[in-house]
Amino acid sequence: MTGAILVLNAGSSSLKFAVYPVADDKKPPLVRGKIAGIGSAPVFSAHDRTGQALRWDKGPPLCPDTDHDALIPPLLDWLKIQIGDLTIIAAGHRVVHGGRDFDGPARVNDALMAKLDRLVPLAPLHQPHNLAAIRCVSRAVPDLPQVACFDTSFHRTQSPLAQMFALPRELTDEGILRYGFHGLSYDYIARTLPSHLGDRANGRVIVAHLGNGASMCAMKGRRSVATSMGFTALDGLMMGQRCGALDPGVVLYLMQQKGMSAAEISQLLYERSGLLGVSGISNDMAALQSSAAPRAKEAIALFCYRAAGELAQLAASIDGLDAIVFTAGIGENSALVRARICDHLLWMGVRLDTAANVRNAPRINAVWSEIDVLVIPTDEEAVIAQATRMIKSGVSGRPSPG
Ligand code: AMP
Repeated sequence: MTGAILVLNAGSSSLKFAVYPVADDKKPPLVRGKIAGIGSAPVFSAHDRTGQALRWDKGPPLCPDTDHDALIPPLLDWLKIQIGDLTIIAAGHRVVHGGRDFDGPARVNDALMAKLDRLVPLAPLHQPHNLAAIRCVSRAVPDLPQVACFDTSFHRTQSPLAQMFALPRELTDEGILRYGFHGLSYDYIARTLPSHLGDRANGRVIVAHLGNGASMCAMKGRRSVATSMGFTALDGLMMGQRCGALDPGVVLYLMQQKGMSAAEISQLLYERSGLLGVSGISNDMAALQSSAAPRAKEAIALFCYRAAGELAQLAASIDGLDAIVFTAGIGENSALVRARICDHLLWMGVRLDTAANVRNAPRINAVWSEIDVLVIPTDEEAVIAQATRMIKSGVSGRPSPG
């Protein structure tokens, strides 16, 4: 196969993109970039394979009211110029929720889109944008094969027990289950683990994906055994603006005593909680780290305390722990957060090498640590590109982790 694969990762206010030549999709993409601040103050950034910055000079002006729909057609035109003689032969998309049905990527068609539309209420912040991007590409290039790659698929290896809530059986049967998310990121880390850990890669590993959205995944044999996120991407760790795990009694109190509507509670829990809610300053970890405000410090402390607690709970699901991997924006860049989380885990035998941690080195544990501690940059786009190539060439299922 020749040509190129387009990867789109459409978030609520951002659009990440990358183009991989089909012939060597395991190497860095030809072009990778992001349009951030969509709907408010759009900012374009992109670079080529050598790291050289690329400019949006041939595209239309990026206005505050430019939405995803208006951006995708000119972005496709811009990408065609960047990749020269190559033709885009397929597009792969990140889709947050695949429900129970998908344990691997799937070719887009009308029936698939109808199924994915029904999952919008389970991921209201992300799923609508993921699906809108697919529809937009269909309109711009009607015959282009498209592939949906799900954040939930990686977790379908979990036991029924790990996926159940303690709710009446009929609700479980209806699909009220712990699905888990960030699966594309975990998939990437699972594939790269052997190059960092050798045989220990197949042992008991907890990956902490700490970004604006945050979760953890306990793996054994590089497969998901348990994860901190549940039915929706609201559960588990404290996040940028999401609350994470919460006593469901709080939701009842907000409804019954404070008279809040479902929409108001949803907005509170998805958009006004987490680091933003606790600090009252920002959802952005870097901004909080540079703030002297006591509430910023308290928000960071709570984030780390809660993360360590989730990690300890997940360790029980894999009978102990051999390695911790930090990834995503906070996990890859915040030495402070990694150190604070690991401070709570001294009792487990976790010991950091302070200098390596400050450098964001790939291995940050001290030599006498009982547990390996790694920092591995994630690459969801690479996983999507590989899956898209496989589906396009007629191979079904998730690429094997090895
Ligand atoms: P992501 O969602 O993976 O892009 O991660 C975004 C989060 O990473 C934001 O909270 C950023 O503030 C945080 N982040 C990125 N770089 C740093 C850094 N150098 N120090 C602390 N936090 C960072």
